[in-house]
Amino acid sequence: MRGTLQAILAGAMVCASLPVWSDGGASGAKGSKSPPSVRLPGPAFAALETITPEHIRWHVRYLSHDLLEGRGTGQRGGELAAEYIATQFAEYGLKPAGDHGTYMQKVPLVGITTLPETQFSLAPKQGEAMNLRPLDEYVAYDQTQQAQSDVDAEIVFVGYGIEAPEYNWDDYKGVDVRGKVLLMLVNEPPSEDPRFFKGKALTYYGRWTYKYEEAARKGAVGVILIHKTEMASYPWEVVRNSNSGEKSFLKVEGPALKVASWVQLDVARRLASTSGMDLDKWMQEAQSREFRPVNLRAKLRAHMVSKVRRFEANNVVAILPGADRKMADEAVIYTAHYDHFGVRPDMPGDNIFNGADDNATGCGILLELARAFGTATQKPRRSILFAAVTAEEQGLLGSEYLGKHPPVAAGKITLDLNYDDVKPLGAPEEVEVSGAERTNFYPAVEATAKEFRLAIRPDARPEAGHYYRSDHFSLAHVGIPAFSINEGMKYKGHPESWGIEQERDYVEKHYHQPSDEYHSEMDFVGDSAMARFGFALGWEAASSPKLIEWQKGDEFEAARTKTK
Ligand SMILES: [Zn+2]
Repeated sequence: MRGTLQAILAGAMVCASLPVWSDGGASGAKGSKSPPSVRLPGPAFAALETITPEHIRWHVRYLSHDLLEGRGTGQRGGELAAEYIATQFAEYGLKPAGDHGTYMQKVPLVGITTLPETQFSLAPKQGEAMNLRPLDEYVAYDQTQQAQSDVDAEIVFVGYGIEAPEYNWDDYKGVDVRGKVLLMLVNEPPSEDPRFFKGKALTYYGRWTYKYEEAARKGAVGVILIHKTEMASYPWEVVRNSNSGEKSFLKVEGPALKVASWVQLDVARRLASTSGMDLDKWMQEAQSREFRPVNLRAKLRAHMVSKVRRFEANNVVAILPGADRKMADEAVIYTAHYDHFGVRPDMPGDNIFNGADDNATGCGILLELARAFGTATQKPRRSILFAAVTAEEQGLLGSEYLGKHPPVAAGKITLDLNYDDVKPLGAPEEVEVSGAERTNFYPAVEATAKEFRLAIRPDARPEAGHYYRSDHFSLAHVGIPAFSINEGMKYKGHPESWGIEQERDYVEKHYHQPSDEYHSEMDFVGDSAMARFGFALGWEAASSPKLIEWQKGDEFEAARTKTK
């Protein structure tokens, strides 16, 4: 996944030229320039210099070959990719960090399809029940992963459904919502103040996943999200399309909702008015800190009927033990997802989703990093973990499982660096590290970018919440400082508009399409430069005396503290 076009078009432009040593090895020149001032010892620098575009090319070529059948989660092609990656890890001398001394970490998954027998009815105390039409008026999944569930529970309006102590905000106000169905708004209280829900930027509190999790933690049996286009920033069709057919989840481990649902705004309005209430007035009141939950004079009566399909896929995980005995139980982790959409048998013509850019490139970088670290003549002080994760395209599920079951305790992982969809377009003059500025590692990131003559390209549309849509987020969620590394838009020898045009073309014609394929004219210099940049950062993070932390007041600080 990458930024949207708007994000790209609105971005800043900065130019700089690349010195030979950071050109990704394209020139073949070694040691032609004195080592950079980033704190890399000689052997580390020598290992960095072995990272080349051609190594990455061969991994990408293989992983996106038709024979790999699109690396579908839980499919044969996905397993072939996992075995390939594990074999490379072994070849580089890395130790297994998966289950029972293997490189594989089994990820238990469940595919849920809500069946047409499902009934979803809003029943006011007075007046007639509203039997809602699936997909047109509501969408719902049973997150308890049972074949059948019944709900007959009172509905409580809880505003945004957010409890965020760092912003002095609590929609629940201590009200007991156990056994209740919670009606709530999407997104978060609007703000221009960067100290209040990060101003215009979306925080995790604004994501629907948070709202479901929080409600389940508080013992609610269901959630009804009110869809309002301006608030969700996407139309009902998006909600409908991403909530129809089979949807995959991790096998449930904690509390879960029997009904995780969305309704159209107009349905919520009708519901409020049948209870003699005014939804628009509530939505207004929900903007205030003083807001308190409101009991509707209505119930949700739902009979959920689901097809439940259990299946498995693997994260591939390896470790390079650290050289310093005292610090070896701490680690840096590199991640990249290896799954893509597999094969769609019902699709005419080319139906293999090869996923060359998305994300054979990230895997190629991950493997090249594994090789460089594994074969370095000196090892970093902390351990280095490498994880090729599965089921990203199903909703970051492989990385979510990894975050919940990390091979090294989350509190001892200093940093996650993730790679996803790093375009083989030549030598970049910018780097994107969105989220890095939220950690106390940022000065090191800035200094390293400077050494690499890479201008840091800021996130042009933080309100779109891209930070929450790639695998690094799953690790941030459990407190680990984490961000993705990618190229910006400005490439050597081209104006910025060229990079923007390439991205536009990709999004329109190839993103999540069978045509995201390998071509021999692809130029992996940029992938190599991103790998070298990440190598330098990872080595630095593995060597500095203290573990990396979130900035004070960051939304992930509490999760980090909990792991300590
Ligand atoms: Zn991806």
